[in-house]
Amino acid sequence: MQDQARRIAADVLFPAAMDTDAGDRVPASHLDLLAAEGFYGLAGPPAEAGAGIDAAAACRVIEILAGGCLATTFVWLQHHSAVRAASAAGTRLREEWLGPLCRGVRRCGIALGGALPGPPLLRARPVAGGYLLDGTSPWVTGWGLVDTLYTAARDERDNVVTALVSATPGTTLSAEPLRMVAVNASCTAAVRFDGHFVTGDRVTAVLPYREWLARDAMNLRANGSLALGVAGRCCALIGPSPLDGELAMRRAALDAAAPAQMAAARAAASDLAMRAAAALVTVQGSRAILAGQHAQRLAREALFLLVFASRPAIKECLSGRLTRAVS
Ligand SMILES: Cc1cc2nc3c(=O)[nH]c(=O)nc-3n(C[C@H](O)[C@H](O)[C@H](O)COP(=O)(O)OP(=O)(O)OC[C@H]3O[C@@H](n4cnc5c(N)ncnc54)[C@H](O)[C@@H]3O)c2cc1C
Repeated sequence: MQDQARRIAADVLFPAAMDTDAGDRVPASHLDLLAAEGFYGLAGPPAEAGAGIDAAAACRVIEILAGGCLATTFVWLQHHSAVRAASAAGTRLREEWLGPLCRGVRRCGIALGGALPGPPLLRARPVAGGYLLDGTSPWVTGWGLVDTLYTAARDERDNVVTALVSATPGTTLSAEPLRMVAVNASCTAAVRFDGHFVTGDRVTAVLPYREWLARDAMNLRANGSLALGVAGRCCALIGPSPLDGELAMRRAALDAAAPAQMAAARAAASDLAMRAAAALVTVQGSRAILAGQHAQRLAREALFLLVFASRPAIKECLSGRLTRAVS
């Protein structure tokens, strides 16, 4: 899959990356290609058309694709939470959903408003046959490009209720597009639920919130590969430099990180992407600032990766690195 990813990144994603960046949405053809080549099953089991590869290999695939086009990779990456949730769900849901998800027949975004700390932004109220969802998910990537939202809402007992919700707008489900300076083609929106009914057979799990938070640290690894992908593309455009060695070191640190070390490893990867993008702009000179240049796109993407999928510990490590005095 890494060879396949390298070919797709080189032949399709990178040549189109500037147009994709300037456009309103990731081309459907990019996502269709990833589906046709089996990439929607990256996190799935081989028995259901999944890739059946280990976490480190899957992260390398994410990194390679991100180095081709971050916006495309970002939309596609959201899907794998639903694949993992369907893999771990009860037999009926698994049988109905896992195959179509792995083949990319079904495509998912994620709406984790109810999983954010503090009073839940998205609530789930049990009713006959399922749940009513009320509230918002402030960031939902892929709106209009996905058919399903892997949604996390909290019930009155502080459980996280996760469900596969149809992403069809209507009177109880609506979206406000967000205009962004990087990965704008990812069609990220704030999604509102107004008494939106989800049937019980779409519920993947009901988990005490403290357990959800305890699992969260291990889910942070994959997003670090987005930063490695941007850093790697900058390195390739700069030419041989000491940053190449640091890239390998940051990848190894992410792969080896235990939950307690993940925040520091993520922060170091985002820091590297930022410095590599700054170095690329510096090396290219003034033309790097022209709108058609990869350097300015990668610098905006590195900016985005300072904040995306952050957590308090990542923010602390990263701000510590960025604010330290350098002689
Ligand atoms: C461009 C963009 C696209 C995004 N797309 C999506 C998306 O498709 N679906 C989606 O659900 N989110 C999405 N997010 C949100 C993202 O996953 C993080 O929640 C966000 O980047 C954290 O930003 P923040 O540090 O400003 O914290 P805030 O968003 O203000 O969150 C408040 C606090 O909650 C913590 N937190 C955030 N997420 C979680 C979590 N899942 N579990 C536990 N704690 C958490 C944060 O660390 C922070 O301390 C997106 C964010 C951006 C910038």
